[in-house]
Amino acid sequence: MVQSRSDGNRIFIAGAGIGGLTAALSLSRRSRAVTVIEQADELRPVGSGLQLPPNTMQVLRDLGLEDALLPHVVAPRAIEVMTWRGDAPVAEIPLGALAEKRYGAPYLVIHRADLQAVLLKAARASAGITLRLGTRLRGAAQNSDRIKLELEQAAGEADGEIPLDHDTGAALIGADGVWSTVRRRVMGLRAAAFSGRTAYRAVIPASDVPERWRNVTGLWLGPRAHVVHYPVSGGERFNLVALVEEDWQEEVWSGPADRSALLDRFRDWPGACRELLSLPSSWLKWALCSMDPGTSWVDGRFALLGDAAHAMLPFAAQGAAMAIEDAEALARHLDQGADDIPRALRAYESERQDRAERVMRLARSNDRIYHMSGPLALARDMVMRSLPSERLLARLDWLYGWRPPGA
Ligand SMILES: Cc1cc2nc3c(=O)[nH]c(=O)nc-3n(C[C@H](O)[C@H](O)[C@H](O)COP(=O)(O)OP(=O)(O)OC[C@H]3O[C@@H](n4cnc5c(N)ncnc54)[C@H](O)[C@@H]3O)c2cc1C
Repeated sequence: MVQSRSDGNRIFIAGAGIGGLTAALSLSRRSRAVTVIEQADELRPVGSGLQLPPNTMQVLRDLGLEDALLPHVVAPRAIEVMTWRGDAPVAEIPLGALAEKRYGAPYLVIHRADLQAVLLKAARASAGITLRLGTRLRGAAQNSDRIKLELEQAAGEADGEIPLDHDTGAALIGADGVWSTVRRRVMGLRAAAFSGRTAYRAVIPASDVPERWRNVTGLWLGPRAHVVHYPVSGGERFNLVALVEEDWQEEVWSGPADRSALLDRFRDWPGACRELLSLPSSWLKWALCSMDPGTSWVDGRFALLGDAAHAMLPFAAQGAAMAIEDAEALARHLDQGADDIPRALRAYESERQDRAERVMRLARSNDRIYHMSGPLALARDMVMRSLPSERLLARLDWLYGWRPPGA
């Protein structure tokens, strides 16, 4: 028999990814009871690198996670920008101590699995957080004073409904990523669409990589493609991503990639770039899907955060950062407006939406700029060469200088 008990104040979060776990921790810190529902029966160490720019670090610091993150991160000295025409940098954007001084927090890089593991450990240690792994949100309904969930077992012996101590509560937060069920099924909003870009990812031992690249983020620009690389896992491993404009022919949105076809795609690129791309013995590829700005993230007691609200191309390296910022803002508004949840959620949306959409536009504009060819690319390189390196960083002060209000 299905147990069903009401807890009128409980907040439900669908998705134990980066945004969902951060939101749970931020809410529990404000003494709110939270249940996180995650379809994966185990959070396996999949994925590759993520960038944790200074705008995320204040939130993670406030959650007391900085010390736990430190063994896993690297603070790159700079972003070195090269092009497909040669391996000498056309620009160097200083990070390291300079970024930390400018923004009061470091610019870090990390493996997604390490970040998720740190968040998960903290969530497991928080008395106010209930974690339900192996449980998929299928749907939800709401009336004026509560929400009710429809859940299913994601894998295992039996299909059908599963018991939860509580299946009704004050709000449902969709932190369920780019293919969000809360977005599509619960709120009836448009799904993400394939962007015409594929990310090829690999993680290799850092000891295999030439010394030159081990303490920087490298960015190679070229016609209809670019390459990004940086160290992860406290400098032990090295993350390589090649982002390519191409059609997607497969039935699933990720899978093993054809290594020799990938190397062939970059055959005209500089030797140093090709050397890096040739190091991994295998690659995984991911279809990059994104959304258009402008849809609502809130409907009564339902709200979206992270990729479920604003999945974007990873070309501003802000996907995880925006989910972390959203999580902090959501928890703050739910705490301050606990007596009127729909209003608190609308306040969350109105604080966050402009900023997230500005970042989505930045990612699209970087897509155009990074993939230019011919005279436009030459003009781009000339401008980058002519700008003092600190000016290149200062252009992003609005992004990296963000702090939670009151921090
Ligand atoms: C397995 C995985 C690996 C990734 N690897 C990378 C990477 O290497 N580099 C990178 O830049 N980005 C990666 N991403 C995406 C990146 O994590 C996000 O773009 C960003 O961190 C924003 O996070 P999010 O919390 O909005 O969503 P995500 O971190 O994607 O988390 C969404 C979570 O919701 C869960 N979920 C989905 N539907 C349901 C449902 N119906 N019921 C219950 N749970 C559900 C998913 O299993 C997932 O755990 C990855 C995402 C996933 C899920």
